[in-house]
Amino acid sequence: MSAAPALIDAFGRHITYVRISVTDRCDLRCRYCMAEKMTFLPRSAVMSLEEIAAISDAFIDRGVRRIRLTGGEPLVRRGVPELARMIGARLGDGLDELTLTTNGTRLADHAITLREAGVRRINVSLDSLDPARFRHITRVGDLDPVLAGIDAARGAGLSIKINMVALKGLNEDEIEPMLRWCAARGHDLTLIETMPLGAMDEDRVDRFLPLDGVKAKLAERHAMTPLGDRTGGPARYVRMDDLGIRLGFITPLSENFCATCNRVRLTVSGELFMCLGSERKVDLRAAWREGGREGIDAALDRALAAKPLAHDFHIDARGAAPAVDRHMSVTGG
Ligand code: SAM
Ligand code: SF4
Repeated sequence: MSAAPALIDAFGRHITYVRISVTDRCDLRCRYCMAEKMTFLPRSAVMSLEEIAAISDAFIDRGVRRIRLTGGEPLVRRGVPELARMIGARLGDGLDELTLTTNGTRLADHAITLREAGVRRINVSLDSLDPARFRHITRVGDLDPVLAGIDAARGAGLSIKINMVALKGLNEDEIEPMLRWCAARGHDLTLIETMPLGAMDEDRVDRFLPLDGVKAKLAERHAMTPLGDRTGGPARYVRMDDLGIRLGFITPLSENFCATCNRVRLTVSGELFMCLGSERKVDLRAAWREGGREGIDAALDRALAAKPLAHDFHIDARGAAPAVDRHMSVTGG
């Protein structure tokens, strides 16, 4: 590995984890994530896969040990399995883990290639096991290909964590069934609170379901052991002792997690956001095009100085405008 200095921000937080959005496009339109009619970036604004691989290399040389590919839907972009192979070549050479977050619609086609690229764990988003509800939440999606994708991933030997956004009045009655479905198949489950990102058609305040209440209700029926293993992210995990799986809670609004934050996010157009909930950014694509590797290193140093102490999220009782006018599909969830 190179002797380039590690990425340590002004508050002493060590950046070891990067999420990379490889496309802002998606084949679904989940109500909490996208508007029904979205305008996507023009092709000219999108980094090439080679640029993404080069920037990933620079991150790894500066001490990043985990990379997650996300989007939009990463598997709708042609060549993403090859990108996984390029980045995966650094596994064991600075990189500890390469992972992917997907909606699962195209997983059946790519599970084996991802495994061959060195991916061992993936997150699959699944908010309902009921086909009609799945269609309602995603606006356009069919449940069956997603379930087939999950089966294919399991068959390929990938370990799977299901991500479920908890939506008041939409799927809250499915939390317990989802937990049992995951337990029967050996998948971990993470419940996510809706976050106020991007202008949306629906009122997020109406759908916001605080997870502390969900957790308290689950604790009445299940024995849970809190797990201390912190990933540096917003998730807190418990072991469900009766079900034998881990259950995570991502609660950016009801519990602040910023002090241990170890991550930054790269958009598909090369903007590096130092925090999901803040507008501060640097342009790594421009830095790469103008200055190559040295340009990236200088831009990363500027970015470190800009990482904020805490996010700016805020949902108030009156349904305030989103703190950040940028969709999750752009920054990468
Ligand atoms: N398309 C892929 C997927 O759905 O897994 C990857 C990108 S998606 C933006 C990543 C994660 O962010 C998903 O689990 C999704 O449910 C979650 N997400 C999207 N918008 C959100 C929001 N406003 N609040 C909370 N989670 C959100
Ligand atoms: Fe697409 Fe994922 Fe957003 Fe749903 S959550 S619209 S699958 S990017």
